[in-house]
Amino acid sequence: MARVITDVSTAAAALRRGELVAFATETVYGLGGVALWPETVARIFEVKGRPTFDPLIVHVPDLSSAQQLVTKLPPLATQLARRFWPGPLTMVLEKAAQIPDLVTSGLPSVAIRIPSHPLALQLLREVGLPVAAPSANLFGRVSPTTAAHVQDQLGDRIEWILDGGPCAVGVESTVLNIPATGRPTLLRP
Ligand code: AMP
Ligand code: MG
Repeated sequence: MARVITDVSTAAAALRRGELVAFATETVYGLGGVALWPETVARIFEVKGRPTFDPLIVHVPDLSSAQQLVTKLPPLATQLARRFWPGPLTMVLEKAAQIPDLVTSGLPSVAIRIPSHPLALQLLREVGLPVAAPSANLFGRVSPTTAAHVQDQLGDRIEWILDGGPCAVGVESTVLNIPATGRPTLLRP
C-alpha cells in the first residue's frame, strides 16, 4: 500500500529523491516524478503500463519555470498563460534541450501546465524542479479523482499519495498546441 499523506514537504522530499508521488490537481490525480531525470520518467511509464509513445505533461508552479522548458514562448502562449494559468489548460510548445526525449516521446515539443490546486502548487514550488505527471491510473482505466481511487489502482506500485481531497474539475486538462509559427490547434477538448 502507498502511504497517504497531506504533508507537502514529505512529498517534495520524496520527489527530490527520485521517488514517484501521486498528487491531487484540480483536474485528476497525477502520478508525479521529476521530469528531468530519465530513470524517474521511465518508472512513470512502467508503473502505469503506459506506452512510451504517449508523451507526458510537465507541471510547474509559475510562468518563469515554464519559460525554462521551452525555446521561446510565443505571444499567444503568454496571453493564454495570463488568462488560464494556474488552471486546467495544457500548452504544447517547442521544447528546450533539458527535457529528456522520453518525456515527449521524442517529439520536439513539450506539454506544460500550471495546476491551480493549492496543494499541487505548493508541492511544485517546494520541489523546485519540473514534475512530469500523467493521470495516476493504470493505462486505459478511468482517471482517479480521489486518493482512494489512486490507492485502488496503483497502491501496490508507488510509495506516496498526497491527498488533496476530491478533484474539483474531475476531467483531464484541455490541450492546445501552440507552434512557434502558424495556427494553434486543439489537441484535446
Ligand atoms: P495525460 O497525461 O494522460 O493527461 O495525457 C497527456 C496527453 O497530452 C497525451 O496523451 C497527448 O495527447 C498530449 N501531449 C502531451 N505532450 C504532447 C506533445 N508534445 N505533443 C502533442 N501532444 C502532447
Ligand atoms: Mg490519462
